[in-house]
Amino acid sequence: MTITAARSPFRHEPGLDFAAPEEDERFEEALARVRSQLGRTYPLVIGGTEVDRGETFASLNPARPAEVIGHHAAATLDDVDAAIAAAGEAFADWSQTHAEERAALLFDVADRIVERRRDFAALLTLEVGKIREEADGEIAEVADVLRWYAQQMLDLDRPRPLLPVDGEQTSLVYVPLGVGAIVSPWNFPLSLTTGMMSAALVAGNTVVVKPASASATSAAWLVDLFRECGAPAGVINLLTGSGGLIGDALVDHPQTRFVAFTGSKDVGVRINERAARLQPGQIWIKRVQLELGGKNAILVDETAALERAAEAIVTSAFGYQGQKCSACSRAIVVDAVHDELVSRIVERVRRLRLGDPAERGTDLGPLVDDSAFRKVVEYVDIGRAESTLVFGGGTREGGYYVEPTIFDDVSPGARIAQEEIFGPVLAIVRARDFDHALDIANGTEFGLAGAVFTADRDRIEQARRRFHVGNLYVNRKCTGALTGAHPFGGFNLSGTDSKAGGPDYLLFFLQAKSVAVRAG
Ligand code: NAP
Ligand code: MG
Repeated sequence: MTITAARSPFRHEPGLDFAAPEEDERFEEALARVRSQLGRTYPLVIGGTEVDRGETFASLNPARPAEVIGHHAAATLDDVDAAIAAAGEAFADWSQTHAEERAALLFDVADRIVERRRDFAALLTLEVGKIREEADGEIAEVADVLRWYAQQMLDLDRPRPLLPVDGEQTSLVYVPLGVGAIVSPWNFPLSLTTGMMSAALVAGNTVVVKPASASATSAAWLVDLFRECGAPAGVINLLTGSGGLIGDALVDHPQTRFVAFTGSKDVGVRINERAARLQPGQIWIKRVQLELGGKNAILVDETAALERAAEAIVTSAFGYQGQKCSACSRAIVVDAVHDELVSRIVERVRRLRLGDPAERGTDLGPLVDDSAFRKVVEYVDIGRAESTLVFGGGTREGGYYVEPTIFDDVSPGARIAQEEIFGPVLAIVRARDFDHALDIANGTEFGLAGAVFTADRDRIEQARRRFHVGNLYVNRKCTGALTGAHPFGGFNLSGTDSKAGGPDYLLFFLQAKSVAVRAG
C-alpha cells in the first residue's frame, strides 16, 4: 500500500459516455469477460483466510434465472463467532494506524475500481439487473464515497480548537469504536456496502460484512479488491449467507460494538430492538445506524413546468425498475394540472423499453429475484382493486419482468400509497391545492426523499419548512443523490438519518476523547 497525500479538491468521478459507440463496445467486451467467469464458487473471508463451506447458495441473473452468477459459501453461526473474533484481534493494530494510512487504502481502492469500472459495472448488470448507465453510475459513486470519507477522516484527524483553560493543555481526539457489523442490501450492492464499510474502516474500526444474498458476488469482488489494495488480515471479514440465519447472531454478539444497516424497515426495526439488549459479557451500549425504506413523493402544482415534472417523475419512478430507496412511488398532483400531467407521464412511459439490461437500448430490466417479483405482482393486484390502472400492470416471460405500471386516482390512505412496493409502480394522487398536496405527502410513516415542482417562491419556502423528508429536492428528480452535495438519510421510519456522504457521517463510527493535561 502506498501512502498517498490527500487529493483535494474533491471532484465527482464522471460517468462513461455510452452514446459513444466505442464506449458501448468496451462495455460489451466487459460483459463477455465477466460472463466467462460466471459460476465460480466464492469462499467466506475470516481473518485473512478464505474459508469454504460444504453448503453454498447461488446468486442468479434476474434477467435469466438459469444463469448462476456465483456460488457462495453459506456462513454458519460458528463462522459468526470466528469472524467477530478475527475482527477483534485485527482491531488492536488497525485502530493504532495513522489516519493517513487508512485514508490511503480508500484512495487506492477508488483508483483501482475506476480502472476496472467496466468489469464491475458488467457484474452489476448481470447480478442485479442494472442497465449499463445505472451500473456505471454506481461505480462512480463507489469512487466518490471512498475519496470523500478518506478526505473527511484526514480532516477529523487535525486538532480541534477548544476553549483554553489556565495551566492546561486541552485536546479532543476521535478514536474508533471497535468491531462493527455491516449489513447491506442488494440494490446498490457496491456503493452502499463500500460506503458503510469504508467509513467504518477509515475511522479505525474493523468489520464483519454481511451482504445481501442476491448480490453476494458483487460483495465478494469488492472485498477482494480491498484485500488486493492491502487491507490487512482480519480488518474486513466477509460472511455470505442468509440474513435470517446469521443476522441475529451478528447483531446480538457481545463483541459487536456497532451495527451499520441499510435495508428494509422490518429488518431494521428488529436490529434496533435486538442491539439494545445487553448481552452477558457486553461492556458497551451498541450503536446502531439504520437506513430504511421510503414512500417518496413528487408534488406538482399549477405553476410547475409540466414537461420537466413529467420527465422527473418517470425517471425517479422507473429508473432501476423503481428499486431505489429514493424512488418516486407517489406523484401528488394538484387538480388543475392533473389530467395534463398524467397524459404527459403516460406518453413518456409508453416509450420505455423493458428487457434484458445487458442489451443496449434497454430502459428497464427485471426485478431482482422471485420474491421481489411476487411481491410487486401482488401490489399490482391490490392497486387494481383500490384504484384505476392507467398503464402497464403486466409481466413478461424469461426473467422477473414487471411492466412499468401507473395507477391514477389513488386515495392517500390506500395501501399502494402507503406501503413501500420497491418496484416499477407509480401511484398518482390528486390534491385540491399545494397545501393539501403537502399534507398528503407527509401522511405516511416514512420520510426519506421528496421533490416539489413549482415556480412559486413562497411554496418553495413552505416545502422547505413543512415537507418532512431527509432529502428534499425542488424542480428536479428525487433520485440520484451525489456524495458531498446531497448528504443522504431519512426521517421517521426511513431510518436514523445518518446522512451518508455528508460532512458528519464519520462521527457515527468514532467516539470523541477529551484530554486535559497539567504539568506534573
Ligand atoms: P432487506 O431484506 O432488509 O435486507 C438487507 C440486508 O439485511 C441483507 O443483507 C439481508 O440478508 C439482511 N438480513 C435479513 N434478515 C436479517 C436479520 N434478521 N438480521 C440482520 N440482517 C438481516 O432489504 P433488501 O431487500 O436487501 O433491500 C431493499 C430495502 O432497502 C428497501 O426497503 C429499500 O428502501 C432499503 N434501502 C434503503 C436505503 C437508504 O439509504 N435508506 C438504501 C438502499 C435500500 P439476506 O439478503 O441474506 O436476506
Ligand atoms: Mg441476482
